Amino acid sequence: MLQPIEAGLSRPWYRLKLPDALEAQYRAETARQDGFYVQSWLAVFTLFNVLSLVMDREVFGSEGFVVPLVMTLGVFCPVALGAIASLRGRPTMVRITGAVMATALVDIVVVLNSARLAPAPHTDVYIIIATIVPLVVGLIAPLPFRHCLWFCGSAFVLYAGLVLGLGLCNAERSGLPLLVSGLILVPLKLCYSREWAARNTFLIGLRVKLQAEALARANARLTVLSETDALTALSNRRHFTERLEAAWGLAGEQDAWLGLIFIDIDHFKLLNDTAGHAEGDRCLVAVSAAFQAAVEAHGGLAARYGGEEFAALLPGAEPATARMAGEAVRAAIADLALRHPGLSAGMPVTVSVGVTAARGRMRDFGIEVSDLLRAADFALYAAKNEGRNRVETFMPAANANRPVAGTDRAHTAAPSA
Ligand code: GH3
Ligand code: MG
Ligand code: MG
Repeated sequence: MLQPIEAGLSRPWYRLKLPDALEAQYRAETARQDGFYVQSWLAVFTLFNVLSLVMDREVFGSEGFVVPLVMTLGVFCPVALGAIASLRGRPTMVRITGAVMATALVDIVVVLNSARLAPAPHTDVYIIIATIVPLVVGLIAPLPFRHCLWFCGSAFVLYAGLVLGLGLCNAERSGLPLLVSGLILVPLKLCYSREWAARNTFLIGLRVKLQAEALARANARLTVLSETDALTALSNRRHFTERLEAAWGLAGEQDAWLGLIFIDIDHFKLLNDTAGHAEGDRCLVAVSAAFQAAVEAHGGLAARYGGEEFAALLPGAEPATARMAGEAVRAAIADLALRHPGLSAGMPVTVSVGVTAARGRMRDFGIEVSDLLRAADFALYAAKNEGRNRVETFMPAANANRPVAGTDRAHTAAPSA
């Protein structure tokens, strides 16, 4: 899409039209204009014509004045008012051009008729006004260049035809009508420049919009990549730590429990060494999927913490619930019955699980996220030391070198619910 936009922006000056797909979009977006802008200018124009009757009165005297009076009030005003009325709402460009053309062309007829009848010293004034009419209307009306060609072309032909036909440009008169007739064509330049600029503005706006969308998509993808582990598609350690910080902050505000689980695959190096790294990767993927399903069933967030270690946070989980989730995780992975080629026959891949939980108000006693992580880590290594494929729990303690050990002691150490 950007390529046709660039092609459109570098098109030659004589080609207003955009490449096909863009032209259709440009027209769809600019098809209907607000009619009020043109209506208000036509009203000013009409008022100017009515006020100019004062000049007609002076030029024609009370007897001759009846002709411009009838032409203005009986012919021009009905046409102009009809044109204004036809532009209610959001008219099409064809309607706008039709209204503008009808008003200006009739006015040319009225003014040149006055030029024909006016006493000789005043003829030139009316001839000049007859060219100023399409000049002003063409400059003000927001016509597309193609419509402006029609407008200026017909105004010019009408003007030239009337000037010649009414004898306003014969041998005895000055060359003024011919000289000022060029004014009728001036709006063409403005309309061309206006439309060229409008189309380029449209193209540049479209390019900015497309580039912003592409940037937003790339940013969204980068965000996902920066938060996701490439092998298992779980949240990575950075994202998990951010979420843990946020969850611990929220638990503090609501005085809610927060559970934390660490797991580590047992004898994983042996699996790598005996079955190969690729088999180790497949094992990591299978374990991560079972871990994620078990954690999400308990409303938690699962992440790959690093290597063959995974972590989960469980908002709202009390120590007993967190331990139950830890046990569910351990059982789910054992139930996969993944063959471990380094162990004696029938021994599947298992994980050791460390669990901790803390209540939000413990923040007031100085318990921080690092204390939760340390407690889960201690629990995990206790599970390793106790023989693997088991769950251990530790409760966190503020700034302590060693968290409070054991499920029972942990329960008594925690603030009462
Ligand atoms: P333990 O039961 O005590 O946890 O023993 P272990 O062998 O599992 O522990 P250790 O920490 O010694 O081994 C972890 C191994 O995990 C070592 C490393 O090569 C492997 N590992 C880490 N990341 C990846 C990975 O992305 N893919 C594979 N295939 N192996 C990995
Ligand atoms: Mg490890
Ligand atoms: Mg291990």
